Order: sequence, then C-alpha cells, then structure tokens
Amino acid sequence: MKSGSTREDVIRVRDVVQGLGLESQPLPVAERLAVRVAGYVREPSRELFEMLPGVDLVMPVSQAPHKVGLQARPEGTVLKIGGHTVGGGGLTLVAGPCAVETEEQIVTVAREVQRAGAHMLRGGAYKPRTSPYEFQGLGRRGLELLALARRETGLPVITEAVDEASLELAEEYADVIQIGARNMQNFALLKRAGRSRRPLLLKRGMSASLEDLMMSAEYLMDAGNSDVILCERGIRSFSDHSRFTLDLSIIPVLKQTTHLPIFVDPSHASGNRRSVAPLARAAMVAGADGIMIEVHPDPIHALCDGPQSLLPAEFAALAASLRSLVPLVAGQRETAERKP
Ligand code: PEP
Ligand code: MN
Repeated sequence: MKSGSTREDVIRVRDVVQGLGLESQPLPVAERLAVRVAGYVREPSRELFEMLPGVDLVMPVSQAPHKVGLQARPEGTVLKIGGHTVGGGGLTLVAGPCAVETEEQIVTVAREVQRAGAHMLRGGAYKPRTSPYEFQGLGRRGLELLALARRETGLPVITEAVDEASLELAEEYADVIQIGARNMQNFALLKRAGRSRRPLLLKRGMSASLEDLMMSAEYLMDAGNSDVILCERGIRSFSDHSRFTLDLSIIPVLKQTTHLPIFVDPSHASGNRRSVAPLARAAMVAGADGIMIEVHPDPIHALCDGPQSLLPAEFAALAASLRSLVPLVAGQRETAERKP
C-alpha cells in the first residue's frame, strides 16, 4: 500500500480479495503496510488491484526485489571504500579516464583528480566497445597500472569487468568492480559478481526500466554481495543532441524504492564535455550520492571517449562547484527523499 493509504483503502483490498475467494493478511513492512494474498491471483485480477486507491504495487512475494527494496534497510546503505564513506548524505566523486592507456596517463590523472578532491579513481582495463576495431583496453596490464596509480596516490580504484575471467582479475587489483551498462542483464556475470567480496557499481542499461535495474541489483545481493551502488548513465531516446538522455527523474524514484546509494555518470550520458558540469550539478541537486566523471590529460588523443572527457583543471572547477552544493542539498537528501 502507498504510505498515505487509509484504513478504507485496506478494507477495500480485503473485500476484493475475499470476492476472489482468497485469504488476505495485512503485514506491517517498515512504515508501510502490505497486504499478503495467499493463493493464486491471475493476471487480470492483479491489474484490478493496481487500480484500487491506496495500492502501490502488486507483485508475487517470492519474486519481488526484497533485498534491494527500501523496506529492507530504511536508513539507507552506507559503504566504506578506502576510508571514504559512500551514501549517508555525503558526496562521492569518482574521476578518471575512460580507459587506462599508459602509466604516465593514469598516474597523471590520478594525481590531478586527487588534488581536485576525488575520492576514487576510475579507469577501464577491459572496454566494452561498440566496434571490434576500437581500442579494447590493456587488460591485465591496465589493472597493474591502476594498482600503481593507487600506490602513488592512495585513491581507491574502480574498474569494469566484462566477463567472469576479467572479474576474477579485477578482484585482485581493484577496490570496486563496475558492471557496465551493456552487461547490466548479463545474469551469469551478476551471479559471479554477487559472490565477490568487492563492492560493486552497477550501471543502468541503456534501455533498462526501473524494475530491470532493481532486479539486476537483486541478483547481486541475492548472491551475497550487499555492497552495491547503482549508477544512472543515460538511456536511449530520440535525442539527437546528446549521446544518451540522462534520466535524472529516476533518482527520486530510486530513493523511494531502494536503500542502495545512487551515482550519476553525466559523461557517458551526454557524450559532450560542455554538458558534463551542468548535468553533474543537476544530478546532485536531484539527490545523487555520487558523481562519476571522465577526465583525461589530453582528450584529443584519448583512445576512448575523448569528446566527453574533462581536462583535469575543468574537473577541479566542477568538483569545487559540486562541493559548494553539499550544504544546500544536505538536509533534503536524507529526509524528504528516503522516507518510505
Ligand atoms: C564506462 O564507465 O567506462 C562505461 C563503458 O560506461 P557504460 O557502461 O555506462 O557505457
Ligand atoms: Mn567511457
């Protein structure tokens, strides 16, 4: 039931259940009420329930994403990554190149973004590319360079795994493992990542619904990993002015639906460096717990995603402006939006 549902709404649901010859039982769940229906409810009847006032959603208990659901942890998930706290009202800044290219490149970026206040370094060693002829990443060498950049700066590193083999290697080197948009519904990979002890960043698929995203996160948690961060990175639309469409409207809904921290990646969403800063600020005001930004010391010669990459100095300016927003959005983030 919706949080504002009334006694009459609940009685109406009970009567409809009885009319179908089934039993119902009210169950308090966190600050809300659920009505459990025992017995088989056919599809058209489910739609009927959804039309009743006060009803929020109807779903089979056994299939609902209950581990990622807000009710499972109404206070919200807070993670510690390399001494930094993710979630809980603070801001997490992740920055780095799309792909790890050379030692000089990754160490330079790491130092620059650390100086600018980033909490984590990103960099792909395994790149899921649209064309097989594009740079695919340095593989294990890329992971070694990320580990080197971490030694140089102390920044925890996040990198993408594209299959089970790369996940096994990434676990050895990285602090956080990313499951990319194209793999959000690679269920074999999700099951394996769920068994990992590393925290996971799950990016929303470019055509994934809220339910798809929640269910994929449920795979991770159901396999035993509760250190999961979600990341909105833009969806496909008819837009011809940006690479994808950043769906900021999912943030308040996610905050009502899940306890997991929510990051936003405006770099991949826009594909255009001039749009990155305004979208990052908008994401933060909308309630994002973290922002992930692509940064490259020489975007023109980047092997991947140069046009959307900020120069280190541009990232420093953006980081400062995001920090200045923290006090403005602090109160509203944990109170208004997290209430079930
Ligand atoms: C990335 O973060 O490097 C990446 C490939 O992102 P996405 O999976 O969102 O396209
Ligand atoms: Mn990229």
